[in-house]
Amino acid sequence: MDKQLIDALVERWVRPEIKAISAYHVPDASGLIKLDAMENPYTWPDELREEWLELLRTIDVNRYPDPTAAAVTSRLQKTMNVPVGARLLLGNGSDELIQMLAMTLGGPGRTILSVDPGFVMYNMIAKFVGMEYVGIPLRPADFSLDMPALLRALEQHQPALVFLAYPNNPSGNLFSEQELVQIIQAAPGVVVIDEAYAPFTDASFMSRVGDFPNLLVMRTVSKMGLAGLRLGLLAGAPEWIEQIDKTRLPYNINVLTQVSAEFALQHQDIFDAQTSEIRQQRTVMFDALQTVDGISSFPSEANFILVRMPQGRVQEIHAALRERGVLVKNLDGAHVSLQDCLRITVGTPEENGAFLQALNMAL
Ligand code: PMP
Repeated sequence: MDKQLIDALVERWVRPEIKAISAYHVPDASGLIKLDAMENPYTWPDELREEWLELLRTIDVNRYPDPTAAAVTSRLQKTMNVPVGARLLLGNGSDELIQMLAMTLGGPGRTILSVDPGFVMYNMIAKFVGMEYVGIPLRPADFSLDMPALLRALEQHQPALVFLAYPNNPSGNLFSEQELVQIIQAAPGVVVIDEAYAPFTDASFMSRVGDFPNLLVMRTVSKMGLAGLRLGLLAGAPEWIEQIDKTRLPYNINVLTQVSAEFALQHQDIFDAQTSEIRQQRTVMFDALQTVDGISSFPSEANFILVRMPQGRVQEIHAALRERGVLVKNLDGAHVSLQDCLRITVGTPEENGAFLQALNMAL
């Protein structure tokens, strides 16, 4: 193969905005305690696993799945407390829903607005579809919303789409409910409240989907314990969902995901027990971090905690943790207000203990 020729063709044809970004990087976690990706660390009881395998035995993969994923949709409608009158759209992870929203409301000359530091896919997907991305900095002290700046930006940029994660990733805090309402009311376009971390907080806008003409609420089953299935959901007025659904690729929710999610959601109590244990462990971990000298932690309503390391030492500490078998996310360099910061997913008590021990040694 003529590498030079390929390089020249790539140079000529790949869109400049794609060349300018790096792919979403997922590090190799083999053999490590995985506290980097906000997964639920608990697996299923043996009995449940057996029942699930029996069910999978009955599936024929030679046929396309139900194109409307009706059974799992109606199950999600119940378990996620989707209000009567709202419709659901399912995505291959909520990532795919962000992409569908951008394809429906976006395009050149249109803008996605969010806050920084925030979830990186809002920005990346804006680039994928040729949209502008405007990120309004959060207040660095506590990652709260800078309302004057946000309201000015809504006026100035007239964004087609506003994404706000509630709780926010990577800071873990909830924005003020009243300020979010102000943003929903001031936004000219759609506001998506991204409730990926809903299992770890009591706060939610789901019941209010019908209260505002431009509000959509997004959820995922990833963080509650089904990250491997890749299933996200978007709740909103039927008028919005009908349009966004046009950008969905046929059969986007595969048959194994449909059947497995529907099965799993019939056992919601197991996931509730697991997420409630994670919430308790978050408090235990936060309290333990408070006793460690030289670092500071940000209060979290999600299943992770943002922690600032002593100045200038984060690379070394991240590497030392890895060396001791613990993988966490290094956010230093991702945004100015994340300097020296690591994001630690809350795991099992044993995993959290191993992390705290490794941290103490690394410091
Ligand atoms: N929204 C937020 C705020 C997230 O942090 C994530 C995952 N890290 C997602 C959406 C995507 O979740 P998924 O595609 O697994 O549903």
